[in-house]
Amino acid sequence: TQSLADLDPELATAMAGELARERDTLEMIASENFVPRAVLQAQGSVLTNKYAEGYPGRRYYGGCEHVDVVEDLARNRVKELFGAEFANVQPHSGAQANAAVLMALMNPGDRLLGLDLAHGGHLTHGMRLNFSGKLYEVHAYGVSKEDHRIDMDEVRRQAKEARPAVIVAGWSAYPRHLDFAAFREIADEVGAYLWVDMAHFAGLVAAGLHPSPVPHADVVSSTVHKTLGGPRSGLILAKQEFAKKLNSAVFPGQQGGPLMHVIAAKAAAFKIAGTDEFKQRQERTLTGAKLLAERLTAADVQDKGITVLTGGTDVHLVLVDLRNSALDGQQGEDLLHEIGITVNRNAVPFDPRPPMVTSGLRIGTAALATRGFGDTEFTEVADIIATALTGAADAESLRARVSKLARDFPLYEGLEEWRLL
Ligand code: PLP
Repeated sequence: TQSLADLDPELATAMAGELARERDTLEMIASENFVPRAVLQAQGSVLTNKYAEGYPGRRYYGGCEHVDVVEDLARNRVKELFGAEFANVQPHSGAQANAAVLMALMNPGDRLLGLDLAHGGHLTHGMRLNFSGKLYEVHAYGVSKEDHRIDMDEVRRQAKEARPAVIVAGWSAYPRHLDFAAFREIADEVGAYLWVDMAHFAGLVAAGLHPSPVPHADVVSSTVHKTLGGPRSGLILAKQEFAKKLNSAVFPGQQGGPLMHVIAAKAAAFKIAGTDEFKQRQERTLTGAKLLAERLTAADVQDKGITVLTGGTDVHLVLVDLRNSALDGQQGEDLLHEIGITVNRNAVPFDPRPPMVTSGLRIGTAALATRGFGDTEFTEVADIIATALTGAADAESLRARVSKLARDFPLYEGLEEWRLL
């Protein structure tokens, strides 16, 4: 019955510190977002108490009548949201969803073809130290040196050479749409399954603002916590023929009991993702990224050797290219941190600097769009970032501009009163 603050002041203080950080700074890490109150409530609920190994109607534990309703709500909503035949909402994370996908589609030692980590791919698409790199024979495609876009002729050439069992399309750092139809064609030509990992752009797909991979791919995986704006977790969609294999790859293949409180939070997030308000938020996310790309390709920025990869963006993020700048990724991240803007440094393709330093910044607009930012605010943020990176004003004045934006768009008002801390 004791509250967290009474039981454990040390822990409560650290958590309150995180709330204050989220409120006082501008969050521009492209993979982050702010979940709504309903999602926090579902996740911080008694559903964390329940074991429910198995699937609705076929559990290995008693007392599942209510959590069955919860999981069915989540599954049905996400199927409808993306027009998918099958959904599994149990993966604890994006990485675990991906482990299950590969377990269902291939055997250890089979060949996997995915986007190179150094060119924007994800760890689970075949990085050497990841399970995917250890279990499977990995082949990678990259972006072209000229325009930093994925060249589908090159993907075809590599697919024909490697003859992979699975081709994965998807990214953690790439600012353009993927050509899912072309990936499908290539997969068919070489007899591979096509898996799309839409973790980053799932929210845009849900809102109809990004091409959907669902009609083209055999299997689609995603995280729920990036543009989709739900709890930290994963999901899998697929054609019905893969249902059995995927279900058994998630449980018992990769996981034990599902996190029913998180699945409840997913159900709430999927309901929200079907609303007009959500669509408007995704529109503001895209506009914000375009405004940022425009400002970061203006003459005063280019003069300092700073530009944006591919010259712009189709999605919720911009990749700043610092290869020709005296400023490196680490310094850029620190400069922005100092004025209250959180981003992450990111290696760019053909990066001459070491991976802990890098020559890039990945800057996303999803979290600020959730906070309510529109054209005016994104124009101001873009100018603050351009000014900071070009060293055109002192940190104190920029920090003041950041603080004003944070104050004007309060976050989690009344959270203390919800008694969630
Ligand atoms: N897939 C992609 C494309 C990602 O960008 C990420 C997260 O960064 C993941 C999967 C993994 O998600 P998680 O961090 O939930 O394991």
